[in-house]
Amino acid sequence: MQTIAHWLDGKAFGGTSARTAPVTNPATGAVTGQVALANQADAQAVIASAAAAFAEWRDTSLAHRTQIMFRFRELLNDRKEELAALITAEHGKVHADAMGEVSRGLEVVEFACGVPHLLKGGYTENASTKVDIFSVRQPLGPVAVISPFNFPAMVPMWFFPVAIAAGNTVVLKPSEKDPSSSLWLAELWAEAGLPAGVFNVLQGDKDAVDELLDNPAIKAVSFVGSTPIARYVYQRGTSNGKRVQALGGAKNHMVVLPDADLDLAADAAVNAGFGSAGERCMAISVVLAVDPVGDELVGKITQRAATIKTGDGTRSVDMGPLVTREHRDRVARYIEAGETAGATVALDGRSIEADGAAAGFWLGPTILDHVEPEMSVYTDEIFGPVLSVVRVGTYDDALALINANPYGNGTAIFTNDGGAARRFHYEVEVGMVGINVPIPVPMAYYSFGGWKNSLFGDSHAHGTDAVHFFTRGKAVTTRWLDPSHGGLELGFPQNK
Ligand code: NAD
Repeated sequence: MQTIAHWLDGKAFGGTSARTAPVTNPATGAVTGQVALANQADAQAVIASAAAAFAEWRDTSLAHRTQIMFRFRELLNDRKEELAALITAEHGKVHADAMGEVSRGLEVVEFACGVPHLLKGGYTENASTKVDIFSVRQPLGPVAVISPFNFPAMVPMWFFPVAIAAGNTVVLKPSEKDPSSSLWLAELWAEAGLPAGVFNVLQGDKDAVDELLDNPAIKAVSFVGSTPIARYVYQRGTSNGKRVQALGGAKNHMVVLPDADLDLAADAAVNAGFGSAGERCMAISVVLAVDPVGDELVGKITQRAATIKTGDGTRSVDMGPLVTREHRDRVARYIEAGETAGATVALDGRSIEADGAAAGFWLGPTILDHVEPEMSVYTDEIFGPVLSVVRVGTYDDALALINANPYGNGTAIFTNDGGAARRFHYEVEVGMVGINVPIPVPMAYYSFGGWKNSLFGDSHAHGTDAVHFFTRGKAVTTRWLDPSHGGLELGFPQNK
């Protein structure tokens, strides 16, 4: 049985903690490794590695940093199949989906390869007589990235490429459920020539996170996970004076207007509802069917979802297992609760026959129709292959539901009416909006982030928000010619 260790100073580090957690293959139920769970001393050792490497990395020329970024990009692109296989083995998502995850992370690496341009400051000549001003953006120091189980490679890559390219050093605290991708990435960085200590991995749970939030050496925290933990991380990190962005949970609604292409909408609802077994923060979990499309739309969605093959992600299937047995059972309990509360089970995934080992954590696609807003399947983030359909009378009813929801990560509208689409993206209180696009994940050069309880802080991930988040501005006012200022003058300087 393999032990999954920390990574510091360019090599694996076992730490001193005796605590470990089992890592399972969700498609077989087998325990495949034990991940180290850091104690405070382990966390301090990893943070110290990042702190010690900062001064030299910050001094490294932009040209050299960029060359390392390009080398990392090439290695990742050449070997992405390996990383995808690791993701499938610990997360369970099917291979094609894991490849998609790596590709979206790779796009952020490619964005970060342009860092010399992104870090350019401004210069103003003769702002006052013979006085010039320029601005620069400087790195913060060691920064922490704390990531969730559902994207063990992509979510860390939303942050660390830009952080490193901008001259910071990084401590990545991955999810303890699928921690191996982080070590694979650490080894790849070493191969790309990144100096030891610039990218470090701290394995663990709350104890590791708390040290990252409290340790004064850590200057910024990028967190992604569930809303209660995001709120906690934001509050504790900012109260310690750190810069924090904490992305939380989601409940993404898809509105289908009567004029929409219902085949397109049904394909989109199924792809976005059941891809990655619904374990995506941008999964569609609620379809708002605007009268009178409900019956026809539910028919089309159910017909399609019934053809999904659930099974071991290494085989030729569409949807893998859920991440743990506990999570599988929790999602199944939501289906029971919805049924008891009066929702119609249009498709039941609880009795699925999966193409995989009997001990895998299986749950097939499930569609609950006639869901009401007070039911727990509507109010809670389920994070599984359960699509709820709420019937609404009008566009305004649909909009009111979305805007009243405490989450605001992603949403979509399906319509052929440009005016309705324009109204929707103007009026909806959600951070990422799709028009006839069900999972509107922005490209790397735009920023990713939700509103309300889906994000604490004011910076989104990647894009120019990331450049801003991982640097701080400095304005320098200079006078080299004619330095006299007319002798002593205690008044506040006025520009002439
Ligand atoms: P989680 O909140 O359980 O865990 C996230 C991270 O926090 C992990 O590294 C975990 O070790 C750590 N953690 C867990 N409990 C903690 C505690 N009590 N104190 C300190 N740290 C703790 O989330 P998860 O189950 O791994 O991931 C799924 C959640 O992430 C969903 O809610 C999903 O919507 C959300 N998510 C959001 C986005 C987004 O962009 N908004 C993206 C991906 C996932």
